[in-house]
Amino acid sequence: MKAAPDAQKRLLDLAELDSVADRLAHRRRTLPELAEIDEQSKRYAKLATEVIEAETEAGDLAREQAKAEGDVDTVRARAERDQKRLDSGAVTSPKDLASLQSEIASLHRRQGDLEEVVLEIMERREAADSKVADLRGKLDEVAASRSAAEDRRDAALVEIDKEAGETQGRRSAVAGDIPADLLGLYEKLREQYGVGAAMLRGGRCQGCKVALSIAEMNRIKAAPHDDVVRCDECRRILVRTAESGL
Ligand SMILES: [Zn+2]
Repeated sequence: MKAAPDAQKRLLDLAELDSVADRLAHRRRTLPELAEIDEQSKRYAKLATEVIEAETEAGDLAREQAKAEGDVDTVRARAERDQKRLDSGAVTSPKDLASLQSEIASLHRRQGDLEEVVLEIMERREAADSKVADLRGKLDEVAASRSAAEDRRDAALVEIDKEAGETQGRRSAVAGDIPADLLGLYEKLREQYGVGAAMLRGGRCQGCKVALSIAEMNRIKAAPHDDVVRCDECRRILVRTAESGL
């Protein structure tokens, strides 16, 4: 292939811009915020499950408490009814009176026991409610730091997109200076090797950093200036400049 030396030199500008684009793409993929957001999302999911579990437990205890309080009310109502009967004087038989008093005493003991149960449930419920509040607080914190990380990621992406856009604009201008066949070869090599062209500097290919043999240098020296030469080692287009050492 043949191409004007100036067009070949433009390949170096193109390669430089492509390497900027590659660095930007790499930065986009490896933003520290991405790992951070991922980590916070995992923490959020785990905490959200814990919140649901704690809320379920607190809800169960609330129902348990309502039921125990209902039991207390039932027993208290029975004791009050018995007490009224006792106070009314309607029961006169000593045997019935003794039985009624014994039942009232028994109901009072039962009410005391049930009130103990209510207190014990209330304590557990208080602990469960405070666990719910604690977990919800943590969930909010994680959501806030994830959202902050997302904002930082978005800001970084805007910056990267801006640079990538500018790089793309400059690349289009440079590509316009390069004949289609040379550009096509460059693109093909870039696809295969990551970099399509490299400078020959001081007898060394700047793509693979390998020093060319004397025979290779002589071959390139003898080649017309508009010949497109390739590195034997890495197959990239070798661009000759005043620094090539030819
Ligand atoms: Zn090379």
